Amino acid sequence: MLSANIIMPNTPYFLEKEEHHSAHNYQPLPVVLTKGQGVYVWDVDNKRYYDFLSAYSAVNQGHCHSEIIAAFIEQAQKLTLTSRAFHNDAFAEFAEFITKFFGYDKVLPMNTGVEAVETAIKLARRWGYEVKGVEKNKAKILVCENNFHGRTLNVISFSTDPDARRNFGPFMSGYEIITFNDLTALKTALQDKNVVGFLVEPIQGEAGVIVPDEGYLAEVAKMCKEANVLLLADEIQTGLCRTGKMLACDHENVRPDILVLGKALSGGTMPVSAVLADDEIMMLIKPGEHGSTYGGNPLASCVAMTALRVLETENMAANATIQGNYFREHIKAADHPLVSVVRGKGLFNAIVIDHTDKDKAWDLCIQLMENGLLAKPTHGDKIRFAPPLNITTTQMKECVDIINHSLRSL
Ligand SMILES: *Cc1c(COP(=O)(O)O)cnc(C)c1O
Repeated sequence: MLSANIIMPNTPYFLEKEEHHSAHNYQPLPVVLTKGQGVYVWDVDNKRYYDFLSAYSAVNQGHCHSEIIAAFIEQAQKLTLTSRAFHNDAFAEFAEFITKFFGYDKVLPMNTGVEAVETAIKLARRWGYEVKGVEKNKAKILVCENNFHGRTLNVISFSTDPDARRNFGPFMSGYEIITFNDLTALKTALQDKNVVGFLVEPIQGEAGVIVPDEGYLAEVAKMCKEANVLLLADEIQTGLCRTGKMLACDHENVRPDILVLGKALSGGTMPVSAVLADDEIMMLIKPGEHGSTYGGNPLASCVAMTALRVLETENMAANATIQGNYFREHIKAADHPLVSVVRGKGLFNAIVIDHTDKDKAWDLCIQLMENGLLAKPTHGDKIRFAPPLNITTTQMKECVDIINHSLRSL
């Protein structure tokens, strides 16, 4: 007997179910995935795709990386959650490991990225009042136009994306928005003595992979230091080898005062985020003043240690540089009339599609999907290309061919 799914594709069944029962807070491509391995994912009709989103860079190490999954299973069978009411051995090991790995005195573990951003902001404010001496409730944090730092009410309070804010007010105060990649704007804003921190993405991700001028970050770090203002680097998407270095800040030898990590910290297995800082900042938070039930859980701790080790042992930063250069060179060389910009660093790349037709980027993603490659438009006319960092040259060659072929057939 022929099974039903040979005659009827499974995809519409799941699309319809989700449409009916899930909130419509995303607009996914019409593909239903059920399996992943390395740079590949498979849909419910058994079609294979290259994953060129990597879950917004949460799967830098590739889908279901064998070592990460092994660590996950081993710890899952032993101890998964204690809360921080009690100590657990895995967290102690993780805390030592990650602080040595990134060269900071202390770590504060959280789960989602936005929680780590919230934590970093709390730390900066606390430091502002207790070390810098800012008057009560006057602390101000600088942020950039077109930033993306997550979805909580506080974080959308300083978003400039109307979709992220519409009818969600009232918002929190204490933020000033300045232009990204603009040192003059920063200089002016830093004159306010109530400024305690500058929160910035080293490369703006959701905005469409906006790479600032060379030297921007180094100068930002210098200016913040001179103004006695903390530099808070949100490396949730840019960090962990995505741009060709362990951190995007490493390209300019910048060491942020507060480092925010998430996404690939667990290699795509579970939400794990972390904030790193030195004692002068981190020790300002006392017991009972901040926390999270799942933060620092033993399962996350083990998984994160393995996820970080894998990035190093498999030289993922170096591979990101090589494959990223190949990608940009060959997409640029195709010189497609619809593509106005090809930009990025390492394997964090985007193209800008002709804006006159606002559906063109979506149409291209549908075309790519049909040709076996998954990518997603961001902010209308931009498409981000960010495959897992263990993609090989042969695979990248095939992907560049798929992209160029899809562009031509548009
Ligand atoms: C994804 C992202 C976040 C938010 O992370 P969540 O885990 O979705 O809360 C924050 N900042 C940046 C730069 C991101 O890319």
